[in-house]
Amino acid sequence: MKKRRNKPTWHPETQAIRIQSERTAHMEHSGPLYLTSSFCYEDAESMRAAFADETDAYIYSRFSNPTVQEFTDRMCALEGAESGFATASGMSAVFGSFMAFLKTGDHLLSSASVFGSTHTVITKFLPKWGIEHTYFDLTQPESVEALIRPNTKMIFVETPSNPGLDLIDLEALVKIAKRHNVIVNVDNCFATPALQKPIALGADLVTHSATKWIDGQGRVLGGIVLGRRELVDEVRAFCRSTGPALSPFNAWVLSRALETLHVRMARHSGSALALATALEGNASLEWVKYPYLPSHPQYAIAQQQMTGGGGIVCFELKGGLERGRRFLDKLELLSLTANLGDSRSIASHPASTTHAKLSEQERLNVGITPGLIRISVGLEHAGDILQDIEQALDASK
Ligand SMILES: *Cc1c(COP(=O)(O)O)cnc(C)c1O
Repeated sequence: MKKRRNKPTWHPETQAIRIQSERTAHMEHSGPLYLTSSFCYEDAESMRAAFADETDAYIYSRFSNPTVQEFTDRMCALEGAESGFATASGMSAVFGSFMAFLKTGDHLLSSASVFGSTHTVITKFLPKWGIEHTYFDLTQPESVEALIRPNTKMIFVETPSNPGLDLIDLEALVKIAKRHNVIVNVDNCFATPALQKPIALGADLVTHSATKWIDGQGRVLGGIVLGRRELVDEVRAFCRSTGPALSPFNAWVLSRALETLHVRMARHSGSALALATALEGNASLEWVKYPYLPSHPQYAIAQQQMTGGGGIVCFELKGGLERGRRFLDKLELLSLTANLGDSRSIASHPASTTHAKLSEQERLNVGITPGLIRISVGLEHAGDILQDIEQALDASK
């Protein structure tokens, strides 16, 4: 078999295009799809050796698969990670990263603004296993150290957060965590490794929903946990036995998607900045929030740790919940859907959808106001995206 093509001296985006699983005898140019649940052996001895971990032969696709490995290797190159374990969804990556390290009596410190299902895992399921948690305000990093307890095992953050677009200085957070020997786990879904590399800033683990910008076309679910080998081995051990394996087909789609990640994120970021800039000051809006807008409260952090603002823009409509619903009804181009990170622009209203299960107060605690609209800026012409939003703002007055 041909050696995998990779040179560590290549830039990460080159590696993400060139790393491949083994070619078959046909020498195909694009990486093959190994759509199989298990792998065969020539004889009893080679099967025995595979099960004894004496060779790196593949066994079963719940454990590993060459197509899934290709996606994993590409993500490792992009994030600068030693090792990774790919999962069926972002939530199985987040959950696997919790369960591999937290046990009864342990304490998790998490940013208060987290993805809706992550909030459910932290508040409804972790307590079933006696795992405690405290939420902290991402915008108040100076509060973190006082919240660390002797039993705190992990700090989990989203930066930028979903959907509030709050940021935290990762380098400063890592410094605090290191003093207390606490694992820092960063959900890097919103930035992607094209715009932010938490491991280079000292984070121990990076989790992803590959469903979003990594796929980038709203086709497949996927996730991944990345980090130092000894940490990822713990995640692998948990996931290998509990079963949230990434489908080889989805891994194949996601690997192809990584080949365009950098060009897509540059375009998403450029269009999102243009949109945010054009909307700022619009009479229908209370405010516009985007990490690369100078008016963002943590603009300096965004400039320092991200190479682009990402594809999400948020704004608060004057007129609250009812105006929000009217606004969605008037959109002609943007899709109304739960996903984000798509080539097609998307508008969502968290208060009535993704965060509807939270109480009004809980929503306010994580910055979700009644008229908050989240725009996932797609790859359409930036002028068409702006025009559709402006006409829907006018028509929903
Ligand atoms: C969507 C999302 C997740 C969950 O990912 P799935 O692939 O839907 O399971 C986790 N974190 C963030 C920030 C997300 O946006």
